[in-house]
Amino acid sequence: MKLVILDRDGVINFDSAQFIKSPAEWKPIPGSPEAIARLNQAGYRVVVATNQSGVGRGLFDMDTLNAIHEKMHKTVQAAGGRIDAIFYCPHAADSKCECRKPKPGMFYRLAACYNVELTGVPAVGDSLRDLQAAAAVGAKPYLVLTGKGEKTREDGDLPEGTEVFPDLAALVDHLLATAPDKGEKAEKPEKSDKADKAEKGDKADKPEKAEKPEKAEKTDKP
Ligand SMILES: [Mg+2]
Ligand SMILES: [Zn+2]
Repeated sequence: MKLVILDRDGVINFDSAQFIKSPAEWKPIPGSPEAIARLNQAGYRVVVATNQSGVGRGLFDMDTLNAIHEKMHKTVQAAGGRIDAIFYCPHAADSKCECRKPKPGMFYRLAACYNVELTGVPAVGDSLRDLQAAAAVGAKPYLVLTGKGEKTREDGDLPEGTEVFPDLAALVDHLLATAPDKGEKAEKPEKSDKADKAEKGDKADKPEKAEKPEKAEKTDKP
């Protein structure tokens, strides 16, 4: 299975220092939904791993986060693509949880859900902590210069092996042109529908309890 892991804000949609607190504030970066579709067409499953501390800070609630993600799903679907799952950390920055990037908890969780090794799997972000979480699990860090990306590049200290691209569309051009089979090695023998089942299992959890550090949201709505 070929997998690509994306940060959300500043990669798929425009970021805001005031947080994305409503579906109206969620606006796609031109070319990003289409880039996701092109990944899908090339056989990649696309998953999102996103810090959403606005939940923990009380800036917006889980219903709102779900509505924002519904808009994101619809936008990507309208471009012919599909986001397979969304893993998010709802905790505040001072919560010391294991899932808020740069901690790798969401990456471990998605690796378990999909039963894949993350070694070399492309992981795309606009902030240093995205790249650090990727590097911590052996994924391949890619910095895009949208969102906070320009500042992240200026600040430096990027994890070894980080590659930089103007935006997600340009990165996807590169991935599809240069490494059509990239990610294949991440496959384990007994690939199955486990990921989908795990997501269904998670859905039974009360989101606001957040006893598990991070959640995978089911993509398909009946
Ligand atoms: Mg970001
Ligand atoms: Zn967390």
